[in-house]
Amino acid sequence: MDENLKDYSPIALRKRLAGEGLPGYRADQIAGWLYGRGVEDPHAMTDLDRELREYLATRWSARALEIEGLARSSDGTVKGLLRADDGASIEAVMIPEEERITLCISTQVGCPLACSFCATGFLGFTRNLRTAEIVDQLCRMREVLPEGRRITNVVFMGMGEPLLNLPNVVEAIRILLHPKAFALAPRRVTVSTVGIAPKIPELLEQVPVNLAVSLHATTDEVRNRLVPVNRRFPLAELLGTLRRLPRISQRHPVFFEYTLIEGVNDAPEDARRLVRLLREIPSKVNLIPMNTHADSDLRPPPPGVAGKFMAELVRGGITTTLRRSRGSDIDAACGQLAIRGRRPALDQAGDTARR
Ligand code: SAH
Repeated sequence: MDENLKDYSPIALRKRLAGEGLPGYRADQIAGWLYGRGVEDPHAMTDLDRELREYLATRWSARALEIEGLARSSDGTVKGLLRADDGASIEAVMIPEEERITLCISTQVGCPLACSFCATGFLGFTRNLRTAEIVDQLCRMREVLPEGRRITNVVFMGMGEPLLNLPNVVEAIRILLHPKAFALAPRRVTVSTVGIAPKIPELLEQVPVNLAVSLHATTDEVRNRLVPVNRRFPLAELLGTLRRLPRISQRHPVFFEYTLIEGVNDAPEDARRLVRLLREIPSKVNLIPMNTHADSDLRPPPPGVAGKFMAELVRGGITTTLRRSRGSDIDAACGQLAIRGRRPALDQAGDTARR
């Protein structure tokens, strides 16, 4: 049973079933069960005929991840440690706010980019996630939500680089957006990239999601140090690509993430340079004071610096938010996702969560 129903968007499944001589329209019904109702056992899909239920049950699987542990932050953030069939582990982080519940999902096991301030980068790269493993992060994590609450937003900001796993990410997004599946509005889905320039138009030509770009620096010299892949796609090429994107407008700006690191990229001059760099790109900037982790000596700036940096951007006419870090007490904040064996904190929190 190496075929998984969740590797296919409803449209792709329709074709796949038709190729087997089965009625293609069943694909929408199957999606309704899998994603709408959370039913994974084909025998329970009562509006399918018996023959089809039998075929699905014997030839297809419908799960790709199991929950290995849960950690709950004092601020309500829940980090899930999820295990794939081959034993690989990844993390997904659920962030409840008043009006919405955002799930931050992973696209790779580890990450090949090795950004110097990011814990995931220190893991190295194992493999890409399959489509089923990307969408199953929603299926597993929603099971731990209280009755009546649902995931309203999805951000591809977990472990890995989405644009280095583009076909599987696009197929997963089709499942997030399809009305019979998760039925999320496109503006509630955000893909964050380190800036693999040629893949950005490819993504947006296929799915109408929000784009976030992890910028973090205003000169190639600093960015090369923080984000080594900048050597392949330097700032001029990245920003040039963004300027030419037809979908980007004041209504659909690029969201730039900028991690503030003490003494590296947090000077007023950096802020002024950032204003100049973004001049021709409809932009919003999200400032994230760096979250510390065990593998790096880099630190966030002292109190007050982030506010000054922000004020400089606002003066330059850029809509800017200063991100409040969530889940840092359970290593679930940006750049802290890294599986380091079985940590006692995670096991304990997982036990409490299950009780
Ligand atoms: N590879 C993609 C998706 C990961 S998103 C990307 O780079 O965009 C994770 C976000 O958290 C990125 O913006 C990343 O730069 C940021 N980040 C990584 N380490 C961090 C840290 N230690 N503190 C704050 N933000 C961090």
